[in-house]
Amino acid sequence: MLRITGGQSREAGPDGEWIIRRVIGAAAVKVYRCPGCAQEIPVGMAHVVVWRPYGDGDDRRHWHSSCWERRSRRAPRY
Ligand SMILES: [Zn+2]
Repeated sequence: MLRITGGQSREAGPDGEWIIRRVIGAAAVKVYRCPGCAQEIPVGMAHVVVWRPYGDGDDRRHWHSSCWERRSRRAPRY
């Protein structure tokens, strides 16, 4: 299942595979809550969107870039 286009990458973590897309600040037009730290990602802040490479994309999550990168060094959330 290849849906990878420019700006997206695929990453295998301790909790499985994810597609990661980096969102630039100008494209961040909504407030999201980061599952890594439970804080809001304000409008205009560059961040990442991740979802499973399989499935229908309904499991997308918006993370602070730093929280996503730290995630792999924490205990995985099963
Ligand atoms: Zn966060």
